[in-house]
Amino acid sequence: MIEIVPGLMSPGGRMTDRIESRGHRCPYCQGNGYHWQEDEWQERYKEACPVCGGSGRLDAVITVEWQAGKA
Ligand SMILES: [Zn+2]
Repeated sequence: MIEIVPGLMSPGGRMTDRIESRGHRCPYCQGNGYHWQEDEWQERYKEACPVCGGSGRLDAVITVEWQAGKA
């Protein structure tokens, strides 16, 4: 759930808000942070997930652009 509420605004000022939503489970590695790989000798090793960088989590940064409402 993300609540979108306009922040402080003034004429000519910025019309954007930044919303961050942290700690989502990485869907590519199911939150493990790594994938099992096999090297050329069939030895299994962990390779850091390229999507979440090994953290297993993703942060969302959402930029909201406000526009004047249409009459
Ligand atoms: Zn991942």
